[in-house]
Amino acid sequence: MKRIAIIGGGISGLSAAFALEEQRKSGTQLEYVLYEASPRLGGVLRTERIDGCLVEAGPDSFVTEKPWAADLCRALGLGDQLIGSNDADRKTYILTRGHLVEMPDGLMFMVPTKILPTVLSPLFSWKTKVRMTRELFHPPRAVDRDESVADFVERHYGREMVDRLADPLLSGVYGGESASLSVRAVLPRFAEMERTHGSLGRAMLAARKKMPKAQSKTASLFTSLKQGMQHLAEAVVARLTPQALLTNTPVQAIQREELGWVVSAGMQSDQFDAVILALPGPAAANALRRVSNELAAELGAVEYSSSITVGLGYDAEVRHSLPPGFGFLVPRSEGKRLLAATFVHHKFPHRAPEDRALLRCFFAGSNAESVWPLSDDQILGIVRNELQQIIGLRTAPLFARVYKWKSAMAQYSVGHLERLERIERLRQQLPGLTLAGNAYKGIGVPDCVRSGREAAKQALEM
Ligand SMILES: Cc1cc2nc3c(=O)[nH]c(=O)nc-3n(C[C@H](O)[C@H](O)[C@H](O)COP(=O)(O)OP(=O)(O)OC[C@H]3O[C@@H](n4cnc5c(N)ncnc54)[C@H](O)[C@@H]3O)c2cc1C
Repeated sequence: MKRIAIIGGGISGLSAAFALEEQRKSGTQLEYVLYEASPRLGGVLRTERIDGCLVEAGPDSFVTEKPWAADLCRALGLGDQLIGSNDADRKTYILTRGHLVEMPDGLMFMVPTKILPTVLSPLFSWKTKVRMTRELFHPPRAVDRDESVADFVERHYGREMVDRLADPLLSGVYGGESASLSVRAVLPRFAEMERTHGSLGRAMLAARKKMPKAQSKTASLFTSLKQGMQHLAEAVVARLTPQALLTNTPVQAIQREELGWVVSAGMQSDQFDAVILALPGPAAANALRRVSNELAAELGAVEYSSSITVGLGYDAEVRHSLPPGFGFLVPRSEGKRLLAATFVHHKFPHRAPEDRALLRCFFAGSNAESVWPLSDDQILGIVRNELQQIIGLRTAPLFARVYKWKSAMAQYSVGHLERLERIERLRQQLPGLTLAGNAYKGIGVPDCVRSGREAAKQALEM
């Protein structure tokens, strides 16, 4: 009987456990134990129902383009629970010199694919618009080294594009700044487009032409679950062997022995043939420090940033007074602390009753650090003050919740892919050890699900 330990009960660890459970049910001789430090499973997937609204404390959805999370939902029998974002109302605003300006139609991340809306948009100066046109003539370029997203975007479209779009869009995903994020790790498709086409604009238009019409029209950009993201974690847990799930059990260390691995948690130690470390980088480094200093150092060097989400509920009057669309982003240069706000009732209409507005405000990176020591009431004060300045919202919310996530978002800094190669080489020297989670090849829920499933497969093959 093969014994496998899974350390970490976020969606990465749960996906690994589900893959092992499926194997066990189909007759593979194996036993698994999942260790989770906190009292609850699911990690940052957490949903609360407040005043008829579904408030997401962590992720609120996942990109539809990456299939692994939706595949897991279907495997769990949650196919009918999947919902798409309300893309008919998909407008996003950027705060520009104190005013909300709509992102022009046809902008794919920061690459314009429709000329007229971009030319007419007040979001960019004429200088940037001229650069966008010139970009269409960039020749293919083989770059032999990694660089920051900010440098990459600036080379193509200039500084204003970094400030107005690249930085706020990426801060929303990684919590970090585009000046430190690796273009090869974070925007691999764009790096490849530059190599093959030179111009990102031309490459994007070529890719669009190849895409089947039906696909480009039907799929929503984001997918979520009717009952919220926590439902996914709960559905996985319901399929696992209850005795295998050890909550309130932080692992202090793992060690390698002649015949396998020893996992130490509290006063207990247990032996396993393989270990799946499904932890954020620094926590994985900590667990591994007695096994390999070198690997621990590489894992510990993956930077993490903190974030804060604030859920706010309002009445119907506020709902009708808000601008239409998904919400707004705030470039750093606007001097605010908020990074973004989502009008959840527009993005996912199932999340709030008709007579409620549900807002989700977001602080990340250095802004999250600066408000971190404040009380929830003080943070709420900042949110309300900035909402008043940005959208003129003076009404007191019917409810408000502040959720703090310490060092939960991995930031893939320049050189991340080389670090991954070193991590993989060092891991291979430790038979029986596999790694999953958001420190490696994708921070989003779908990538974490994939990483868990792949780690389980590897652990079984060892
Ligand atoms: C605020 C926020 C919003 C996000 N929004 C989105 C989004 O909209 N879409 C999207 O796709 N992604 C989003 N993400 C990213 C995504 O949710 C995460 O990257 C992903 O859920 C991480 O899952 P995980 O299992 O790897 O890690 P985690 O969820 O962090 O789980 C790790 C688990 O390990 C446990 N643990 C730690 N140390 C130990 C130990 N020593 N022993 C045992 N257990 C331990 C922790 O308690 C935790 O439960 C968001 C993240 C955050 C924080």
